[in-house]
Amino acid sequence: MFSYRHAFHAGNHADVLKHFITIQLLQYLNQKETAYTYIDTHSGAGVYALDGTFAAKNAEYETGIGPLWERDDMPPQLKEYVDLIRAMNPSGKMRYYPGSPYIAEQVAREQDRLRLFELHPADAKLLADNFRKLEEHAAEQGIRPTVRGKRVLVDRSDGFQSLKALLPPPSRRALVLIDPPYEDKQDYKKVKDALAEALTRFPSGTYAVWYPLLQRMESRQFADKLKQLQCSEWLNVVLTTRSPTPDGFGLHSSGMFILNPPYTLEPMLKQVMPYLVKALGVDSGARFTLESGTPTPLRGNGGTA
Ligand code: SAM
Repeated sequence: MFSYRHAFHAGNHADVLKHFITIQLLQYLNQKETAYTYIDTHSGAGVYALDGTFAAKNAEYETGIGPLWERDDMPPQLKEYVDLIRAMNPSGKMRYYPGSPYIAEQVAREQDRLRLFELHPADAKLLADNFRKLEEHAAEQGIRPTVRGKRVLVDRSDGFQSLKALLPPPSRRALVLIDPPYEDKQDYKKVKDALAEALTRFPSGTYAVWYPLLQRMESRQFADKLKQLQCSEWLNVVLTTRSPTPDGFGLHSSGMFILNPPYTLEPMLKQVMPYLVKALGVDSGARFTLESGTPTPLRGNGGTA
């Protein structure tokens, strides 16, 4: 059950796509003074050491953040993401890579709330320890009031289950990131069911779902199923860095499916994704797809196809 550890994949091309978009979604929320809640249903450990045993094993970051590290010609939205990681690595050597909770902690403001769920006992402990260290560092530097307490809550629990109790959030403003491992194919269904319930409780929230594009049927049909959910609009962006290998090994494509995206997201992605494909593309199979729309009606009694 607990075989997945995100440290093996930290900083890969899927993380690049997910994290740079997450920053942009948070920055959009930052445009209004009113506080919001950031909910991370599957948080991971929060920070990863790229020279640690797990991350160094397959060095997946070499085909993700690696090719961006030294670039100085990036579109501003990618630069903002890379600059956040550069700030974690003041020596200039890329040693640490942020998880989504750390990114949110850096981009969200003092008045915003972070609700972080992680079920794996070891990663939940690392996440809590990492946030404790952040708090100590912040106190030493006098740069930020306490990151624990009300602002950040770390909870070792099932993010699918815990999400509903938080919706709707007090200020009626929230970004929910749903990023499960998908090693268990039930995760596809759990994501869809959790979103359906969340949208009933809080229809205007922004929900961002990361997903892998794999051979298995659940993965191939996943985006089409999410398109049926009752939101105002959806956006689906997929980054492919290489052609699939004959043995099907390795992750060559992943997507971010966003329900109720800000109107700025699609034009921004049209600008940035071609750069990302060129920077991270490994062979002629590298490409991106970007689509958006409104919910497709469900087929069934009296429904239209
Ligand atoms: N969101 C993180 C990031 O971008 O840095 C990475 C998350 S990783 C892909 C998925 C995490 O979900 C793993 O750390 C795993 O232990 C955790 N997990 C698996 N099932 C869970 C569940 N039901 N509730 C909460 N966490 C879960």
